[in-house]
This record gives sequence, C-alpha cells and structure tokens, in this order.
Amino acid sequence: MLYDHIVIRYGEISTKGRNRNKFIDKLRKSVKRAIQDFPKATVKSERDRMYVLLNGEDGVEVAEKLKKVFGIQSLSPAIKVEKDIEKMKDAALELFTHLYKEGKTFKITGKRSDKTFELTTNDINQEFGGHLLKNVPGLKVDVRNPDINLQIEIRAEAAYLSAENIRGAAGLPVGSGGKAMLMLSGGIDSPVAGYLSMKRGLEVEGVHFASPPFTSERAKQKVIDLTEKLADVSGKMVLHIVPFTEIQRTIQKQVPENYTMTTTRRLMLRITDRLREQHGGLAIITGESLGQVASQTLESMYAINEVTSTPIIRPLIATDKTDIMEIAAKIDTLEISNLPYEDCCTVFVPSSPKTKPKLEKVQHYESYFDFEPLIEKAVSETETIIVIPGMSQKEEEDLF
Ligand code: ATP
Ligand code: MG
Repeated sequence: MLYDHIVIRYGEISTKGRNRNKFIDKLRKSVKRAIQDFPKATVKSERDRMYVLLNGEDGVEVAEKLKKVFGIQSLSPAIKVEKDIEKMKDAALELFTHLYKEGKTFKITGKRSDKTFELTTNDINQEFGGHLLKNVPGLKVDVRNPDINLQIEIRAEAAYLSAENIRGAAGLPVGSGGKAMLMLSGGIDSPVAGYLSMKRGLEVEGVHFASPPFTSERAKQKVIDLTEKLADVSGKMVLHIVPFTEIQRTIQKQVPENYTMTTTRRLMLRITDRLREQHGGLAIITGESLGQVASQTLESMYAINEVTSTPIIRPLIATDKTDIMEIAAKIDTLEISNLPYEDCCTVFVPSSPKTKPKLEKVQHYESYFDFEPLIEKAVSETETIIVIPGMSQKEEEDLF
C-alpha cells in the first residue's frame, strides 16, 4: 500500500467568506457518501483543504470516486511523512521507485506553508532532486514538461508527497446553495438541467406530472430511473409525482385547443410552486431551451411564467440540443430519456399549439373555470418518494 492519504483541494469554496464552514460541512458529507464503500477510510477537514485517511483502502479507487464530487477542485493521492529530512527522502525514493519507468523525466515541486521548516522551496527542490538523481540510474530532469512531478508540501503538522494532480468535478458542494424544485419530465433536457443545478450547489427535489392511464407505469418508472441517476450525485433525491389526469381532461374541455398547451404549463407551474412552498424550496428549475418547441418561445414563457413570481432557473436556456445530449450521455441519463414511453404532454398535445400565445387570451379562457380546487386536490394527492441510488436494482432483485 503506497498511498496513505488523499489531499482534497476546495477550489471555489475558499472564496466564500463567512459561509465557508457550511460549505466545508456539506463537502465533507458528500465526500463521506462518495467513499462509503471504503469503510476504513476516514475524513479530516481543515480550513483550506480536506484529507481522506485511507487506513489501508486503495488510494486509486478512492480517488476515482472523489473525482465525481462537486466542490472539489483537485485531488492528489499522497504519502504523509514526519518533517524529518531523512525520512522524507526515504519516502520520496519509495514513491518514485513505484512510479518510475526507464527513460522518464522528473522534477520536484517543493511547497512550504510552514515557514519555520529548515529548507526553503529552492533547497527542497535541490536536496530531493539530488537524492533521486543519485539513487535512480538513468534519471533525467525536465523542469518544463516532466513525466513525473513529485510534489513535496511542508505543512504545519507534516509533509505530504504526491505525484499526481487529478482534476475534480469543480462546482459547489450539493446542498450548499439551498433547495429548488426540478420539473422533471421523462425527456432529455430536464435531467441535465437538474444535474447542472446540483453542480452549482443546489439541493434538488423532482416534480413529475403523470396522467394515468394515458401515461403508463413504465413512463413513471422511467422518471424514477432518471431520478436515481441524479441521486448518484447527491446520495438521495426526493421525487413528487403529481396526478394530472383530471386537470388535463378539464383543460381539454375548457380551453380552445391551440391554447391547451399554454394552460397546461401554467397549471404545472402553479402546482410546482405549491409543492415548492410546502417543502421549503426557493426556486423552480426547468429543462427549457429557447426556441426548442412551441412552449419554449419567449412569448410562451412570458404567458406561462405569469402565474408565479418565484425565480425560475433555466440552466439550458441558451444551450443547443446537441450539447445538451452530450451532457446527458456523460451523466448517463440519455439512454433512459430515449426510451419511448409517452409523457403527459405528448398524450394531450394539440396538433397546432400557439407558438406566440397572448397572455390576455389565456387569462380570459382560464377565467371561465375555477382550477383552484383541482390544484389543491392534485397537490394533496401527490405521491412523494425518496429515491436512493441502486434502489431499482434492489427492487428487481427482490422480485426474483
Ligand atoms: P424535456 O427533455 O426536459 O422533456 P422538452 O424539450 O421535451 O424537455 P417540453 O416537453 O416542452 O420540452 O418541456 C419543457 C420543460 O417543462 C421540461 O424541461 C420540464 O422541466 C417541464 N416538463 C415537461 N413535461 C413535464 C412533466 N410531465 N412533468 C414535469 N415537468 C415537465
Ligand atoms: Mg419533454
């Protein structure tokens, strides 16, 4: 077992002033969750960085898990050594022998946050560089573009030796930025919008509108599966499933066909806003992208958005479909989203929805009917489930 620590660097957290402790606390939770399959590993957080103490767990495998955690700028598997030059030299040589292959070049990067240490940064580079050159035959220095960059960092409590700087997922720790409701369809866009919001630190709860029997049990399962992918990031995710059949039927009866889509969206938004209020969220996230379909023109958004003053976050508003699909593939939701099960909006979609609906018109059509009791009923009959990664797999196993 070569490495005994993983050094975690915070990145953007460090600029967050007084919120710092909260950020570190959330990151610590994310890190613990990410490495829960490595029971011996423990986490130690400090003001400017965090350490995973491997206690015999595999550093490379642990690092692989940590690469996905939001809030980490970079990480390095490392060896912790007492600040004794001879011991440090031994450790440096051991690490180096492990990594070195013939013909490779190297350099030493010394760093000293403990200014009382007897060697300066330059001294460190020379002293340790010399030691390695003397003991590894054929070794060459390349300060510009080395194959191995051996970093020796002198901290107050000890020295850390590492040879790799692995890029983290960046972003902010999940949950550090408050809660928002994600309007989650079975499509490609909304899961991506949810993922990007989580990356900026939001805790996300899903809201899905289902219209059984027009939408099937499989369509519902698809949304649960998508939620499960997002829960991979946060450890768990709450999903609200709103029964929407009665409202959609009523809309078909009450509103002229070319305005049903606009009214449908307005009612979805009103219901989502109620759930947001109930569950302590401060914003609503959608997968809308400007101009993609009739409901996503600026005129449509203007007419739909009027029902609430709650901030609507649209992470994908200026993103092209191909770029959205690329992210969806990366976060493993694309394949699920591509499954063909019908969505409540596709079932009831009018043949020619207004691409430029007028607010006064939709208000006028809606004024003939009091939707409020139906909204209240839908909210009270909403099914709330907590989705945990690996859940559906377990359920499937239980079936056999
Ligand atoms: P998506 O790929 O996310 O389904 P889309 O391009 O198909 O998006 P629309 O169907 O117009 O676009 O939906 C726009 C947004 O409205 C979605 O991104 C989602 O946030 C929300 N939405 C649509 N249908 C539902 C639904 N059944 N339940 C919850 N939210 C929905
Ligand atoms: Mg859709």
